[in-house]
Amino acid sequence: MKDIAIIGAGINGTALAYRLAKEGVAVALFDTKIAGGGSGAAGAFLSPKFLKSSDVKTVINTALDEAFDFYEEVEHSLIARYNLLHIAKDERDAKNIRYMKEHKEISLLASPPPFIPANEYVYTETSALVDAKGMCEALAKGSDFVKDHITKIERKDELWILNDGKYSAKKLVLATGAYSALIGEKYLSKVLRGIWGHRIDVVSDFKSDISIHQFVSISPSKKGELSIGATHDVHFSPINGGAYDYESGRAELLEKASRTVNLGKTKVLRDYVGLRSGSIDHLPIVGKVANLDATLKKLGSFELKKKRQDFDAYVYYDDLYMINGSAGYGFVLAPMLSRFLSEHILRDAAISPLLQPVRFLPRYVRREL
Ligand SMILES: Cc1cc2nc3c(=O)[nH]c(=O)nc-3n(C[C@H](O)[C@H](O)[C@H](O)COP(=O)(O)OP(=O)(O)OC[C@H]3O[C@@H](n4cnc5c(N)ncnc54)[C@H](O)[C@@H]3O)c2cc1C
Repeated sequence: MKDIAIIGAGINGTALAYRLAKEGVAVALFDTKIAGGGSGAAGAFLSPKFLKSSDVKTVINTALDEAFDFYEEVEHSLIARYNLLHIAKDERDAKNIRYMKEHKEISLLASPPPFIPANEYVYTETSALVDAKGMCEALAKGSDFVKDHITKIERKDELWILNDGKYSAKKLVLATGAYSALIGEKYLSKVLRGIWGHRIDVVSDFKSDISIHQFVSISPSKKGELSIGATHDVHFSPINGGAYDYESGRAELLEKASRTVNLGKTKVLRDYVGLRSGSIDHLPIVGKVANLDATLKKLGSFELKKKRQDFDAYVYYDDLYMINGSAGYGFVLAPMLSRFLSEHILRDAAISPLLQPVRFLPRYVRREL
């Protein structure tokens, strides 16, 4: 029996496993493969969010600084720093870039970029690429990786029991991305959606030693190759079955990249596909899991429909947590989210209600009950 079981070995699950193992906690990490979901598909590009003021921007850009240091600390050779040329794709994007420049929210390089774009742009060194799979594997090293798919979780005798007694742990963390929910909480059932993404490695006549980001990102990868990503497809999901059309994904990526640079002769070497898990308010989800039925029984729906809510009065599952909803910024967010969750689990540190799963509970009661 382990102290903590984490289901899901993507960047969220492995980053949390790393932090807990470093503190001497016995962690079991369950998945069929390390980085087999959205994390294995990611370009794992670390860059700021170009927006005017919003909670999403604050959370992502705060997480970014921590992400550079965290990945350097874990394994220096698995993170590469490249300058970033971020070019506006439309007028709204241009306004956001101008806002961030005017408010000095992004450090600009003094040297000019290799080419001057027609649209508004930022040229900055605040960006990096992480070796997605390699990093997840490095993070998982201190834990016991259990190659298994979890089909059932239940609480018995103050323990979490997985797969009808095959495994048990004192505490349980769901880091399952868009691939499964494992709990039937109705207020959480519609807050996450899978967004399918496709990324490619290519060789092309176009060479670059910086990352260029406009309609897609075009980044240097292994010697002379480029990584182009990613598509955002809300219609396809491997969970619903059917075959994914790789050719149309490749064509979309190459067409979008060609609007920014002249790729010349290009050959696709590798495809990467996976589901991102995005929340309906675009913020990540991290913290303990509230029990809707028990909370309704304790407080009643009238109380739960009031504007001001006291989340401390809610009823929570014992020792059950989740970390999810990172959408297209999982590698940026995971170092910070995993720190929040490990400090919460081990030292009861508070997590902002803005990020906790419980924020969706009163919203569900107001709308559905
Ligand atoms: C094409 C693409 C490009 C991207 N590019 C970037 C980028 O440049 N920068 C960035 O920061 N982010 C990027 N992202 C987003 C990033 O990959 C995600 O935010 C991140 O992977 C989320 O990590 P996760 O650990 O929450 O989920 P996942 O990586 O999806 O991990 C969830 C894991 O849980 C496992 N699992 C689920 N249910 C069970 C179960 N019942 N039993 C056992 N295991 C289970 C799955 O097998 C999976 O491995 C990209 C995503 C895609 C798809």
